Amino acid sequence: MGDDRKQLNDWLDADRERLVEFFRGFLRCPSPNPPGDTTIAATYIGDFLRREGLDYRLIAPQKTMPNIVAAFDGAKRGKHLVLNGHIDVFPVGDGTGWTKDPWGGELIDGKIYGRGASDMKAGTSASIFTYTYLHRIRERLKGRLTLTAVSDEETFGPWGARYLVEHHPEVLGDCVLNGEPGSPYTIRFGEKGLLWLAFKIRTKGAHGAYTHYSESATKLAQKLIGDLEIVGEIEPTISDNIARSLDAAGGAADKAMGKGAAGIVSKVTLNIGVIEGGLKVNMVPFACRFEADIRLPLGVTKDQVMAEVSKVLKKYPQASVEEMNFQPPSYCPPEGVMVDIIQKNVEAQRGFRPTPIVSLGGTDARLWRYRDIPAYVYGPFPNGMGSHDEHVALEEYLHVVKVHVLSAFDYLMAG
Ligand SMILES: [Zn+2]
Repeated sequence: MGDDRKQLNDWLDADRERLVEFFRGFLRCPSPNPPGDTTIAATYIGDFLRREGLDYRLIAPQKTMPNIVAAFDGAKRGKHLVLNGHIDVFPVGDGTGWTKDPWGGELIDGKIYGRGASDMKAGTSASIFTYTYLHRIRERLKGRLTLTAVSDEETFGPWGARYLVEHHPEVLGDCVLNGEPGSPYTIRFGEKGLLWLAFKIRTKGAHGAYTHYSESATKLAQKLIGDLEIVGEIEPTISDNIARSLDAAGGAADKAMGKGAAGIVSKVTLNIGVIEGGLKVNMVPFACRFEADIRLPLGVTKDQVMAEVSKVLKKYPQASVEEMNFQPPSYCPPEGVMVDIIQKNVEAQRGFRPTPIVSLGGTDARLWRYRDIPAYVYGPFPNGMGSHDEHVALEEYLHVVKVHVLSAFDYLMAG
């Protein structure tokens, strides 16, 4: 076992340039979602695997959104680890704010730039190399390793990981390792959920001078939005070990997600992402529509939120609500074999132990947690994620790859 670990380390050290060039080439394969066409980027991964002599399946229920799935068995029975990462990335729009080519994969001052650098072509590269290296030593490995590089993640679409977990139970496994952005200081064991609601308000409407004649749909919306803040007071119900983890994770959560993050990890939050109403300045609006993005912490259910929303709506007979999207919060044990292993490997490399945390945003890892399969995320800082000049420090990328390779090995060998 010691020899194999040393071999993996040697490959990682010798391959520094190859690892970086693969990642940069991956960034030069545009895969913005929407529209979510990942064929170029998936072909890039497929070509790489083929050159390495590795078989894979292309599962594409939607032709332009292929998923790459590969698996092998070790020599002895053991656990089944699943590596998961997505291929699609946020769109770039008209490129406003970018000072680097979003599809250039440029390496400048030790940083690698491009749309999807942190979210999450670095992490997906880590999965691909983990699969490649461990395959080389499969005759001495225990268990089974599966690689899933998926499409359709950024829009919560149905054609990526969701399709796989629903139609291909062979990708479920015993544990999942994912390299979505977070921070080298944290291991994500849970994620907040989301409930997106669309509200519509209808009134008679009137000439702008005749305010006595009709209620204003926009003014009602303004009041209604104010009243909806009540959802922030819902108290979560969580078990002691999760509560202890959340308490212990405050500093690390702020470090990974920005100051103030720890304060809302356990709270229901309300964001009004879209609001539209009124036709003209001198008309009393007869319609207003807005979209609320409500985030649910661990231990809060959709029913609890909807009970509060219904109470509020009783005061607004002019308003109706419709559900747009719902993803429950997800979590798995904050302690356990994989957490220990990642902590040890990070400590050996960098001298600190990453803290298990719950994140504000969601990833495909939740789909496995919903099925009671522990899924952990260890990835780079989200520099420029969903914004401009997205990048990952070269050394941080190599660190994430190394932690994934060694942790996958340790997990499988632990049986
Ligand atoms: Zn992502």
